[in-house]
Amino acid sequence: RKLPLDSSEEPGVRQVKGACFSRVKPQPLTKPRFVAVSHEALALLGLSGEEVMNDPLGPEYLSGSKLLPGSEPAAHCYCGHQFGQFAGQLGDGAACYLGEVKVPPGQDPEQLRENPSGRWEIQVKGAGLTPYSRQADGRKVLRSSIREFLCSEVMYFLGVPTTRAGSVVTSDSRVIRDVYYSGHPRHERCSVVLRIAPTFLRFGSFEIFKETDEHTGRRGPSYGRDEIRGQMMDYVIEMFYPEIQQNYPDRVERNVAFFREVMLRTARLVAQWQCVGFCHGVLNTDNMSILGLTLDYGPYGFMDRFDPDFICNASDNSGRYSYQAQPAICRWNLVKLAEALAPELPPDRAEAVMDEYLDLYNGFYLENMRKKLGLLNQDEPEDEILITELLQTMHNTGADFTNTFRSLSQISCPNAGESEEEEDVRKAADLLLEQCANLEELKAANKPTMDPRELAMLLSMAQSNPALFQMISDRTTIARQLDRLSKLKDLMETSQEELKIKQAEEWSRWITRYRKRLARELEGQCDVQAVQEERVRVMDSTNPRVILRNYIAQNAIEAAENGDFSEVQRVLKVLEKPFSSQPGLELPAWVGGGEATEQGERD
Ligand code: AMP
Ligand code: MG
Ligand code: MG
Repeated sequence: RKLPLDSSEEPGVRQVKGACFSRVKPQPLTKPRFVAVSHEALALLGLSGEEVMNDPLGPEYLSGSKLLPGSEPAAHCYCGHQFGQFAGQLGDGAACYLGEVKVPPGQDPEQLRENPSGRWEIQVKGAGLTPYSRQADGRKVLRSSIREFLCSEVMYFLGVPTTRAGSVVTSDSRVIRDVYYSGHPRHERCSVVLRIAPTFLRFGSFEIFKETDEHTGRRGPSYGRDEIRGQMMDYVIEMFYPEIQQNYPDRVERNVAFFREVMLRTARLVAQWQCVGFCHGVLNTDNMSILGLTLDYGPYGFMDRFDPDFICNASDNSGRYSYQAQPAICRWNLVKLAEALAPELPPDRAEAVMDEYLDLYNGFYLENMRKKLGLLNQDEPEDEILITELLQTMHNTGADFTNTFRSLSQISCPNAGESEEEEDVRKAADLLLEQCANLEELKAANKPTMDPRELAMLLSMAQSNPALFQMISDRTTIARQLDRLSKLKDLMETSQEELKIKQAEEWSRWITRYRKRLARELEGQCDVQAVQEERVRVMDSTNPRVILRNYIAQNAIEAAENGDFSEVQRVLKVLEKPFSSQPGLELPAWVGGGEATEQGERD
């Protein structure tokens, strides 16, 4: 099914014009078998995980090796801005839409609120060639499939909007993959994830209608096809935003309301990512869901030690998609969506909507952070300062993101009139210091994130031309890189003992500020005990005890590659309840080695 070429753009790319979907057939796998299933995700489709697992045809159907009755498989044609450049036609190169499943009766009404369409789209990811596979083979391997499967479900249980994953199937079919992961080419097992979402349509689904891009000269394959763009918008709004369809009889007003809602959901989503320390890694517009869901789990990562410059994608040299860049990148992506909708969405109206983005994002972020700190009332600007200083302290001391937040609920509130203030601060500081890095770890954590050769080149260019320095400093993270270098230099001149004292001082300072803020919260409360309890409850249901750290996924992947699939299922079980401890169910302890970067997609 390699298609004949009629494009001058790129070998292997045939422009699919005037259509949003191409009919394809998933390629069957040899001896498909389950690695793991998500009982909760399969239940959305009215399936029992037990039954599916015991059915010899289960892995055949859930990997697309056999077609479910009524299934009409297709690959979606979409475009996208990749790393800031309009890339033209991309499309489902490895994913295959199988069709839609009606929401079975008796579902949790909460689920229906999030999916008003009354049906779920199902997809198999890694099911082979499509017209959009370009030079690749449309396959996914065990490690990337396990990563997508686990994180899709983990995000859901953390309460972050996401596409879901019903199962991961592996097989005896093999493909060759580089190099990057293992250092030499490997024949890896083809594996397939069953994905579930109200829809997989994305910002890029609208970019296929884009007229010539001013920078690249490229255009979407369906440029000028206003009637299809209109149909696509009608479809998305009627199906997934029915209230907007009902409330806005005027088409332009409807479209503005739709864009505003996508903007709002995106702002809320990225705020949630920031609050669990999640980095997506490839925030191209084709990976931005039109419903504000987390979409496409490639080289993602949860942070261990807090680092605003955290980059989880090894090919992201400039840090375009670093942790701290995510809110601004999502904003940039929304502007690209607005451009793609322009004939249906007046640009001045889109601009007015975008003017709301920053405030909305900040609002969501602060609301979420206040919960993480157990602040039940609002106290601005003190809260924002408190949060900024917390993050600064975490970064300076190399504190673990998840563990730090989780231990905040153990910090006691000051009791009026009691004198052991100093003792309490010291106790709390000791608790937080447990999460902090030692000297060697802190040095490692402060290494520049930019390629050293690139950094050296930029620096020498900058030295010879201050105006140029200003420019590249704005355009890249060079200023931050210099900051890291100077931190590193300080650390070289510090001893472990001096570091410990500094870390204790920093934490004591922050804890004192925090306890003052807590004291104000308790002022005038008659039932201090009840407020305390509520505060701890809110914190412990907002700050996860466990997250999908890279080494945990890696551990499960290595076991699975050696034929033991039980660890994947076990990790899922632990992370289905990320806020509580389950006796007898612990994640493997960190044994050192390996970096917290992707072991995922690179295929
Ligand atoms: P991503 O960076 O994962 O969003 O992927 C970018 C583009 O590459 C999308 O059009 C994908 O469908 C396509 N793609 C990713 N992996 C594969 C693969 N293994 N085979 C074919 N196409 C792929
Ligand atoms: Mg993608
Ligand atoms: Mg991908």
